[in-house]
Parts: sequence; structure tokens; C-alpha cells
Amino acid sequence: MHIGNVQTGKERQLNTQTPSGTEVTDVAIIGAGPVGLFAVFECGMLQLRCHVIDALPALGGQCVALYPEKPIYDIPAAPALMASELIARLQQQIAPFQPRFHLDQQVTELQRRDDAWELITSRGTRIRARAVMVAAGVGAFGPNRPPLPGIEPYEGRLRALPGRGTGALPGPAAGDRGRRRLRRGLGHCAGR
Ligand SMILES: Cc1cc2nc3c(=O)[nH]c(=O)nc-3n(C[C@H](O)[C@H](O)[C@H](O)COP(=O)(O)OP(=O)(O)OC[C@H]3O[C@@H](n4cnc5c(N)ncnc54)[C@H](O)[C@@H]3O)c2cc1C
Repeated sequence: MHIGNVQTGKERQLNTQTPSGTEVTDVAIIGAGPVGLFAVFECGMLQLRCHVIDALPALGGQCVALYPEKPIYDIPAAPALMASELIARLQQQIAPFQPRFHLDQQVTELQRRDDAWELITSRGTRIRARAVMVAAGVGAFGPNRPPLPGIEPYEGRLRALPGRGTGALPGPAAGDRGRRRLRRGLGHCAGR
């Protein structure tokens, strides 16, 4: 596929891996918020391949983690669109460049080795890149645990609420009858 005269994915050699499993790419982007995602587009136009790493399990940074259903009014040529829609459009815009995503893992080490940078993530992923872009926003997102004793056994069992509008709770599911529910936070990270 071509965007203007720029070659994308299929015509170019895609991201590669060394025999030891280290991913090799042109640019490693730390952060998959709106800035990191649009950086993939800009790099793609320069024929640079990208790997994007984020601590969150989904793309979108603050837009998806904190306010997916809030309208945004300051995007050029888009009078109003939901934050989640902005991220969906960015994903569509960068798809031709076939970025590789490493989600649910935090970049914990960054070292200069020979003529490249090597990143290591909390899951042990190693990425060797000619350049690194830090699009980390306000820092790596992670769970903000309520200070409640004995909450650990419930970790991972909280269910994300489907989008029903700010403050709205869906009706109880059949298996939830008789249980008390707690909603904490907004956005896709909210649990009950
Ligand atoms: C409630 C609210 C409403 C807002 N409304 C608007 C608005 O209407 N219009 C507007 O223009 N802006 C708005 N903003 C601000 C806007 O969301 C931010 O400016 C924007 O998200 C910044 O984008 P970013 O990509 O730089 O960073 P972020 O969105 O913060 O994304 C950074 C990403 O980097 C990841 N990360 C950081 N460090 C690491 C690491 N070491 N390893 C792996 N991943 C890492 C994080 O997990 C995160 O996902 C709002 C913000 C909030 C909180």
C-alpha cells in the first residue's frame, strides 16, 4: 500500500528479530497515548518502522484509561469527537505502517549499546532500536489499588463496565444478585 509516494509495510522489510529473540526496529516509542500513536504515522511517512510499548493493556493512554466517553473539541478539523473515537481513528491512520505493539508491560531499562538503544520491559521483552521516542505523558499507568485490607484475592476479578455514560451502572447480571457492588474510577479501568 502507498500513502503518497511512501512505501508501507508490504514493500519494505518488516520488523525483525535476532536469533536471541531481541526485536530489532528503527524506532521504539515509549507510550501508546495519542502522541505515541501519531508518532507512528510521522515515522511511517519517513519509512521508519516502529515498535510501541505501553504499560496499559490497551492503546490510547489517558484518552482510553481516564475519559473514553468525554467529547474532545480541540482536534483540528474534528469539531467534536469522543476520546475513544480519537484513538480508534489514530489506529486506523497508522495501520498501513504495521507498527508492533508491546502492551501491558512497562519499559524498565534503556541502555545505549554500540550504535543502537536497547529497551527492556517488565515482561522481559528486549527491543533494539536506532532511535527512541519518549511519549510517556504523565508516566506509566498502572492499577491504583484502594487501601482496603484483604482486597488482594479480588485482584484480576474486577470486571470492566461497558460504556453506559458517566456515572451510570448497568443493571446486575444474573450471577450478581445478592452481591454488593463497588464502582471505582471512570473509563475502561473502572471496576465493580
Ligand atoms: C479528564 C481529562 C480530560 C482531558 N481532556 C482533554 C481535551 O478535551 N483535549 C485535550 O487536548 N486534552 C485533554 N486532556 C489531556 C490529554 O489527555 C493529554 O494531553 C494526552 O493524553 C497526552 O497524550 P500523551 O500521548 O502525551 O500521553 P498519555 O495519554 O499520558 O499516554 C502516555 C502513555 O505512556 C505510557 N507509559 C509511560 N511511561 C511508560 C513506560 N516506562 N513504559 C511503558 N509505558 C509507559 C502510559 O501508560 C500511557 O499510556 C485531558 C486529560 C484528562 C485527564
